[in-house]
Amino acid sequence: MEVYVLGCGGMMPLPGRHLTSVLVRRDGELLLFDCGESTQVSLKRLNLKWKKISTIFISHTHADHVTGLPGILMLSAQVDRDEPLTIIGPKKIRDYIESSINVLDMYINYEIIIKELDEPEKPGIVWENDEYYVKSFPLDHSKVCVGYTLIEKERPGEFFPEKARELSVPVGPMWSKLQSGESVCLEDGTEILPSQVMGNMRKGRKFSFVTDTAYLPSIAPEISNSDLLICEGMFEEALIDSAREKKHMTSKQAAKIAKDGRVKQLGLIHFSPRYVERDLQRLLTEAQTVFKNTILTRDRMCFNLPYED
Ligand SMILES: [Zn+2]
Ligand SMILES: [Zn+2]
Repeated sequence: MEVYVLGCGGMMPLPGRHLTSVLVRRDGELLLFDCGESTQVSLKRLNLKWKKISTIFISHTHADHVTGLPGILMLSAQVDRDEPLTIIGPKKIRDYIESSINVLDMYINYEIIIKELDEPEKPGIVWENDEYYVKSFPLDHSKVCVGYTLIEKERPGEFFPEKARELSVPVGPMWSKLQSGESVCLEDGTEILPSQVMGNMRKGRKFSFVTDTAYLPSIAPEISNSDLLICEGMFEEALIDSAREKKHMTSKQAAKIAKDGRVKQLGLIHFSPRYVERDLQRLLTEAQTVFKNTILTRDRMCFNLPYED
């Protein structure tokens, strides 16, 4: 699994800093979290194919998180796409997408499935397949806003061929069955269970995306043990009152969430445009006093999240 930061800015784009958008590539599938202005520029520069995006998760409908969407949808006229595109987000996301398509007379040649969150104030699973699920949880912002966490399900344990041979399981379909968790029956009637030839189930990975929000203690348990937490750290500590008032966080508050949630790594995002590049170091230094493994995200930065085993 790789995580690409397509844009790391908040509020307004700056030269060299697009607005918030993060893309997860997992097993050939692309999942997008927020879609700020110029998302498609970063996609193009990274040579990532928009038609591989299966699902877009939107935190909230402030302009700096959704203005890239019409451009992304419009790409359909340029390339063929067979699979539907699912867009998930709080109320108003449907209105925004449908009115953009209507007013701009967009030519859409594929299916768009829009799912508005019924109860964004409650944590819940919003997307699930055999391999992973995505959960939303409430944030505290000036309009309805949610964080997301992608959690991979456990994978079958390692297969030990020597054990299968010892138990006289013939190489072939029986090996595949055991590897997929089914028991098999040998010619002499002996039943072989997967646990006899496989190791323990293996843990999946976890990725979390949190922006925009005031500090909220309930975030830490939701993102706990993430391999990577991408979290807003919009302001420096000196502006904590202003951050609270605007329903945003300081980088140090983001670091507290990372520490309390015992994540492996924190990537700060959604920087205030008041900070030029050299000022951002201050936000990083403040965060690292609380949580050492913090980095500033930059446009088109990539994080690799390998399996633990
Ligand atoms: Zn924002
Ligand atoms: Zn916002």
